[in-house]
Amino acid sequence: MSIINPYNDAFFMKKALREAEAAYEKGEIPIGAVIVINNQIIARAHNLTETLNDVTAHAEMQAITAAANYLGGKYLIDCTLYVTIEPCQMCAGALFWSQISKVVYGARDEHRGCINLNTKLHPKTELMGGIMAEEASQLLKRFFIEKRNLN
Ligand SMILES: [Zn+2]
Repeated sequence: MSIINPYNDAFFMKKALREAEAAYEKGEIPIGAVIVINNQIIARAHNLTETLNDVTAHAEMQAITAAANYLGGKYLIDCTLYVTIEPCQMCAGALFWSQISKVVYGARDEHRGCINLNTKLHPKTELMGGIMAEEASQLLKRFFIEKRNLN
């Protein structure tokens, strides 16, 4: 008998995409994130830089804070962050300090992402990408096309 584990990377990335859609609805750049420990979501967040008038209000930053609050400790050991777009330098830096175990992103960000800018994650952090990349980048493209048409 085979048991299908519903809690795979695509399952959690879909939850992060749902957060990105919530950002989209608010007119925010649509990027979403969730943090998971033991197949349980302990933090959900989306980009709120416009709403909060705060350039640091990226989805990952808020998810890190929420997860640490939930766990009652600052380190995110055994946690996985799912984020729809590759983290930027700021978020990669925050993830470094959190010592998070794994980061899974959807689409690459060639210009502002941490990979091309060579921002290091913690040596203990495993980085993986390309999960539902098409959905994540399509949502972002749709946002910028609509924004351009409004101006
Ligand atoms: Zn960021």
